[in-house]
Order: sequence, then C-alpha cells, then structure tokens
Amino acid sequence: MDFTLSAEHQQLRRTLREFFEAEAPVDVIARFDRDEEFNSELYLKAARLGLSGLAFGEQYGGSDADQISICIAVEEIARASAALAYAWLPTATFCAKGVYRFGTEEQKKEILPQVAAGTLRLAMGLTEPEAGSDLTHLSTRAVRDGDDFVIRGQKVFTTGADTAGYIFAFVRTDPDAPASRGMSVLLVPTGAEGLTIRPLRKLAGQSTHTCEVFLNDVRVPKENLVGELGGGLSIIFELLDAERIYVGAQGTGLGQGALDLALKYAKERVQFGKPIIEHQAVGHMLADMAMDVQTARLITWQAAWRLDQGLDCTLEASMAKVHGSEAGTRCAARGMQILGGYSYMVEYGMERYWRETKLYEIAGGTNQIMRNVIAKHLGRS
Ligand SMILES: Cc1cc2nc3c(=O)[nH]c(=O)nc-3n(C[C@H](O)[C@H](O)[C@H](O)COP(=O)(O)OP(=O)(O)OC[C@H]3O[C@@H](n4cnc5c(N)ncnc54)[C@H](O)[C@@H]3O)c2cc1C
Repeated sequence: MDFTLSAEHQQLRRTLREFFEAEAPVDVIARFDRDEEFNSELYLKAARLGLSGLAFGEQYGGSDADQISICIAVEEIARASAALAYAWLPTATFCAKGVYRFGTEEQKKEILPQVAAGTLRLAMGLTEPEAGSDLTHLSTRAVRDGDDFVIRGQKVFTTGADTAGYIFAFVRTDPDAPASRGMSVLLVPTGAEGLTIRPLRKLAGQSTHTCEVFLNDVRVPKENLVGELGGGLSIIFELLDAERIYVGAQGTGLGQGALDLALKYAKERVQFGKPIIEHQAVGHMLADMAMDVQTARLITWQAAWRLDQGLDCTLEASMAKVHGSEAGTRCAARGMQILGGYSYMVEYGMERYWRETKLYEIAGGTNQIMRNVIAKHLGRS
C-alpha cells in the first residue's frame, strides 16, 4: 500500500491552491455572497485551468481525470468557496458525467465541450417538494407526445438553475411501473417555454442560487432523453455514489481551510503572555482538527480509489460522505472557538465555513440516510 501522492497530484494541489489564494481571497468571496451575485469570472478562469473537464474524455475537451485528482480539485474549491463548489460540482461532475456515461453522441458533442470551456453550466433537478430523501416518490411527469416529451411538475433546491443552460431532470415517465423502470432523465433547456425559475434565500454560498423550478407543460424533444427510457433510477444511483465521495472531499477541504486559518491565528494571537497555540486547550483543538482532516481525506480517497478500480463503492462512498461532512462541521466549530470573538467577523472567513458546512450533512443524501445505507451493508456481511 502506497500513500504517497503522484507528482501530478501534488502539482494539481499546488496549482489550485495558488490559483484560489490569488483569485478567491476571503473578502472577494464574502462580497459575492453578500451581494448574492454569481462570480462568473472566477468560474470561467477555473474552467480555463481545466477544472470543468475533469470528469470526461479528451475527445470532448475534458481530461478524464482519475478520482483522486477530482477529490483534490473538490477539496481546493471547497476550501476557497462553497458557492463555487455548488456551481461547479453539479455541472462538472454529476451532470457532465451523466451525459458522458449515458448520453447520446449528439448530446456529448453539444454539451461537454461547452462545459469544459466554462461557458455552459448544468443543474441537478432531482429533489421535489414531496420527494427529498425518497426520490422514488417524485411526481414530476414527462409524457410522450409525438416527437417530444411534455413535462409537468416542480423541482426544489435546484442549485445553479438560474445560470444553467440545462437541467438534468429526473422525471417519472411511467406512473404504473416500479421506480426501477418508471423514471428517466431528461435534459431540459432552462429557456424552454413553460419553465419558471425562482431563487430561494439561503444560509450560505449565496452567490450560487438554489432555486425552485416550475415546469408547466414544458416540451423537450425526445432526443433529450439521457440513457434508456425508464432507466433513470440506476443512472441517478450510479452518479450519486461519486457525488457522495465528492461531498466527503468538500468536508475535507472545508476542514482543511478552517484548520489553516485557525493554526495561523493561534500562532499569532498572544494572550497571557504567549501565543494561544501554547495553551494546551487550544493546541488540543488544533490536534483534533488535524486528525479530522486527515481521516476525512483518507476515507474519501479510499472510496475514490474503489470507484476508479470499478469496484462497488456504495458503502465506502456513504462512509466518506458522513465522515467528511461531519469532520468539516467539527473543524469549523473548533475554528470558531479558536478565533474567539474574531471568528464572528466576516473578514476573518471562519464564520463562512461554519455556515457552509451544514449543507454537506444534508445534500447528496442526508447523513441519516447514509447511516441507513451503511447499516444495511453491515447487516448483509
Ligand atoms: C442549499 C441546498 C442545495 C441543494 N442543491 C440541490 C440540487 O442542486 N439538486 C437537487 O436535486 N437537490 C438539491 N438539494 C436537496 C438535498 O439533496 C435535499 O435537501 C436532501 O436530499 C434531503 O431532502 P429533504 O430536504 O426533502 O429532507 P427530507 O427527506 O424531508 O428529510 C428530513 C429529515 O428526515 C430525515 N429522514 C428522512 N427519511 C429518513 C429515513 N428513512 N431514515 C432516517 N431519517 C430520515 C432526514 O435525514 C432529515 O433529517 C439541495 C439542498 C440544499 C439545502
């Protein structure tokens, strides 16, 4: 077993760290979040570094990166800005990978080069008002009418829908079939007639809007079907395994960011005549943060490695998601304590991590659902 990162992985980490420290300092990210304005310039610059094409092949402008590279990229993005992660992940990993794995040649040629260039974003339209954790109960219907599908229903929490070109929408195509055969994925253009998008106010990452999407007899050509008719559930479940690993990586990156800030502060801040890191209680909090980051990274990379090997990774991805997100939350809470009153001030950046981290315990399958999955797997062995 070899735990060393390759020279390419180390270089990727260095390049991204330098890029985000230069392009996305705390005050810039805070300003975009405060103004709830999408930072399209940062998104484009990140795409020019090759970030948006990591999950698909060179023939479509991507680089078909291995999963450890994607995890490193996710960590560095989450360390810099959750809002950027919220726009980038659905586009560059979940939806682009979905098109790459299951889409037609026409869909790949049309969509993926634009995703790689950063000029097209995609949004994940899974969750509905009555179908959150239980996606098998979604009610948005797509009915075949001639050469089109006509879609009626509602999605909620569709992040980035208002700046996306397409929604990768999970819909019911056969109400009488079981979920495993009655649901499909359709690419719905956000400019389609009958589609309305309404951004919601939220706790963190506000510069990427999380939206309600209303579909009122929206017509999309049958060519926009991704994969087999009725094959949507297995597509979504496959993509969710990877997504859960990346949520673990987001928690890891956020935890690393909180640790870096807290460590620097604890070395500089003097109370009772010495830097606060020399007070054992503070040193122990930093030690706990470092252990959380390290274990989150390892459990995430193990799941990523299994995905790369083509091994089943549902159990490991669920563990990575739970541990990574909760490690991020513990790190942000300890970081707040170490910075004392200054943690509360926007300019220090710690309060942003503290707000951002909660989402990772909820989205991509709540940590309760993930624990159900883990327990079910344990029960089988
Ligand atoms: C900021 C934000 C961005 C998001 N972005 C997207 C997006 O881009 N696309 C998208 O499709 N979705 C998105 N989501 C939705 C997210 O994935 C869901 O919120 C999540 O899956 C949970 O669904 P729910 O909110 O309906 O909660 P519910 O499913 O109603 O759950 C409520 C509570 O009940 C618990 N619970 C439910 N069932 C069980 C059970 N069987 N066992 C134990 N506990 C259970 C849950 O763990 C949770 O604590 C986003 C959410 C947020 C907050």
